Amino acid sequence: LKVDPMLLEHLSAGRHVALVSGTNGKTTTTRLLAVALGADRARVVINETGSNMPPGHVAALVADRVSDRAVLEVDEIYLPRVVTATSATTVVLLNLSRDQLDRTNEVRMIAGKWRAAFAAAPHTHVVANADDPLVVWGAGAAAYVHWVGAGMNWQFDAVGCPACAGRIRFDSTGWSCEARCGLVRPTPVASLLVEAGECRGIWADGRSIQINLGLPGRFNQSNALMAAVAAEIQGIDAVTALEAMSKIRTVAGRFTTRQFGEASARLMLAKNPAGWSELLTLVGADRGAVVVSINARVADGADPSWLWDVPFEQLAGRRVVATGDRCRDLSVRLQYAGVEHGVEHDPTTAILIAAKSAEGGAVDVIGNYTAFNDLLLSGTAMTDIDEGSP
Ligand SMILES: [Zn+2]
Repeated sequence: LKVDPMLLEHLSAGRHVALVSGTNGKTTTTRLLAVALGADRARVVINETGSNMPPGHVAALVADRVSDRAVLEVDEIYLPRVVTATSATTVVLLNLSRDQLDRTNEVRMIAGKWRAAFAAAPHTHVVANADDPLVVWGAGAAAYVHWVGAGMNWQFDAVGCPACAGRIRFDSTGWSCEARCGLVRPTPVASLLVEAGECRGIWADGRSIQINLGLPGRFNQSNALMAAVAAEIQGIDAVTALEAMSKIRTVAGRFTTRQFGEASARLMLAKNPAGWSELLTLVGADRGAVVVSINARVADGADPSWLWDVPFEQLAGRRVVATGDRCRDLSVRLQYAGVEHGVEHDPTTAILIAAKSAEGGAVDVIGNYTAFNDLLLSGTAMTDIDEGSP
């Protein structure tokens, strides 16, 4: 890129490039979409490692010069530049929420930059979450927008209207700007419906398609629906796309189980309040032991004050052990949340302590980026099938 600043343009030329961006779910949705676009046996390039800035995109594309389809995960801040450089066919926009505030922009600023980029990309199809006002504002200037009723658990970053700075009112039917500037939830082409334990995608044209995934959580069902709508734009019908996605069991080690001595730990990654909120809801149905691990290294963001935005109150009554480089910050937060817990600096020891009281020695572990990756590398894989294939 230093020698040839147009390298990403050159490597993208002649390919159908789909981009996936947003604060939460990028890596998983990128993988889901890549599998869907490969359902007709086409080869698909993907930046599998989550290296989501232009050097990562160049590395992925240069390693495979043959495939004419590419799916790239893109950092939110770099999205405008990458949309232009790749002449993206399709862009999937998941959500915008606070994340690593010591190094990134305030999210409303990012939405504004997205909006300007799509106004200048007249051929790009945007698949956007209709339930996130910031995403709706960001996508709103695109020539072709396919709105998806994907839902949004975490609404606290979208209470201010990105168009007029009025207040956004959320209710059971959607959202709108109270100042009546006109910004309102758009009508989706497809929506997620979860009823009696069954999840379906409901299309405005009357189709109703079951969404069965090997990945857990409502947020992954949302990601799959977004990917299915994007796949249809590139000629893969939604039934075929969702069928292909159903075979994925784990993405980049998330939700995989690792063995630590006698203990088995299901490893989950959450990097910001929106992600934590989703995972705490997911594990909320269990009563087993939970290990919570927090670091504040460069890749995590140096400022752990976001811990105060996470609804840790949901862990009250559980066996909880706080660990990681910033286990003491976490311990103070858990104290104020009314969650009884132990503190152990070393993550492996923390898992062993939690497992002692857990049925079958099984614990759930939620960590932020480097905390999760360290455990993924230090634990022993239990079965090959759990790993999934890239
Ligand atoms: Zn407004």
